[in-house]
Amino acid sequence: MSVYLHEEDLPVGVLAEGPVAVDTETMGLITPRDRLCLLQISDGRGDEHLVHFGRDSDYKAPNLRAVLADPARLKLFHYARFDLAAISHYLNVVATPLFCTKIASRLTRTYTDRHGLKELVKEMLATDISKQQQSSDWGGPVLSEAQKDYAASDVRYLHRLHDEFVIRLEREGRTAMAQACFDFLPHRADLDLAGWPEIDIFGHS
Ligand code: MN
Repeated sequence: MSVYLHEEDLPVGVLAEGPVAVDTETMGLITPRDRLCLLQISDGRGDEHLVHFGRDSDYKAPNLRAVLADPARLKLFHYARFDLAAISHYLNVVATPLFCTKIASRLTRTYTDRHGLKELVKEMLATDISKQQQSSDWGGPVLSEAQKDYAASDVRYLHRLHDEFVIRLEREGRTAMAQACFDFLPHRADLDLAGWPEIDIFGHS
């Protein structure tokens, strides 16, 4: 169980086959303005890999992009909408097929309006994770130990949450509805990038 930091790309062969958990850290919430600083990825076997991008990165990252684009690999996210936009804009790849634990939570945990990752991990896995470093400066050349720990913890639990949500979606008869939402997410991210970030184009007014 280790956290590995890599510069500019993922080494070949560090991930086992199967689904990968993915998260990103950026300079802020406006994707074209706020650059991608870090991409975290884990195969769920206990190690987390952090790919750090410098201020002048060209975001070529061929190994990482191949994994993200692999049609045989399910990508697990929490709030995929944001990560997909950052990955599309900076790495020029559509990270599908995907599963989003936030959407799965909204479709199954209808007894609450708390769908943050911290809340899911606490309720479903009885584990506490800190969100203290969430709004820290990810833009520097060196990340602190606290930042690395935080970044790794954001992908550490997604496989277990995914397993549980597959069961709950099936139980509630919402697997197909969830899949339709996941399939639409790259387009939702495109709308965000194209200038419809907060407007609900399905809304009446
Ligand atoms: Mn994160």
